[in-house]
Amino acid sequence: MSTDPRLFLPHALQSGTPVILDREDTHYLINVMRRTQGDTVRLFNGRDGEWRAQIAEASKRAARLELVEHTREQAQVPDVELLFAPIKRAKTDLIIEKATELGARAIRPVTTQRTQSDRINVERFRIIAKEAAEQTERLDLPEISDLAKLDRVIDGWDEDRILIFCDEAGDDGARPWGGERGRAVAALGQFADLTNRPASILIGPEGGFSAAERDRLRGLEFTRPVSLGPRILRAETAAIAALTLWQSACGDWR
Ligand code: SAH
Repeated sequence: MSTDPRLFLPHALQSGTPVILDREDTHYLINVMRRTQGDTVRLFNGRDGEWRAQIAEASKRAARLELVEHTREQAQVPDVELLFAPIKRAKTDLIIEKATELGARAIRPVTTQRTQSDRINVERFRIIAKEAAEQTERLDLPEISDLAKLDRVIDGWDEDRILIFCDEAGDDGARPWGGERGRAVAALGQFADLTNRPASILIGPEGGFSAAERDRLRGLEFTRPVSLGPRILRAETAAIAALTLWQSACGDWR
């Protein structure tokens, strides 16, 4: 695999059309990665596959690249989305980065009854996702949506898409973690028949889901409650574990 730096750009990538880098990408390429005129880089834009390009001209503030070769056709990651309730900033950032690396096609922050944070910075999420996608060789960026209420998202659900509800609790409100009753079935087995179905994985906030939310989620036709084992995971660990299992059972790790 090439060790040339990879850059995501909004520009169209087509033979004969030079690419002028903005200040930030120039800084990354020239000052951080220490590349200079004549060096090659790889470019992608989420539409035109991947291109090898050469630095034709560079200063500290601007660079002009010439496209040399179309090296990969555009391809999409499998259709798995991550729905999660934003938590503390550093951990939310980690979720965005890891979900991008693990090939989530979309990342959708949702507010639930116990969500701690009602404000998110989608632009920051997009920058984190861009950097993770550049590093991870994918050819697209995950779509990142604005914060929306989980109830509203469910109201408008496309029923062809399965909602994988990561449910750590049982049904007994009087006992720690909701007790044993109604515990979800282990995730891996639950994924076996979902190979060709678009999927969204739902992870709750630190305080978990309320009893009313769990009742609603469990009552929906398109939901599948799953367990990630007997230990309660932090939300960011749960997101990583669930995406890993889904990619292994249904996605492109098979
Ligand atoms: N209910 C707990 C902890 C929530 S953990 C509390 O009240 O503090 C955050 C989220 O991670 C959960 O809502 C769930 O979506 C997911 N999660 C964590 N451990 C899990 C497990 N063992 N099985 C399924 N989901 C889990």
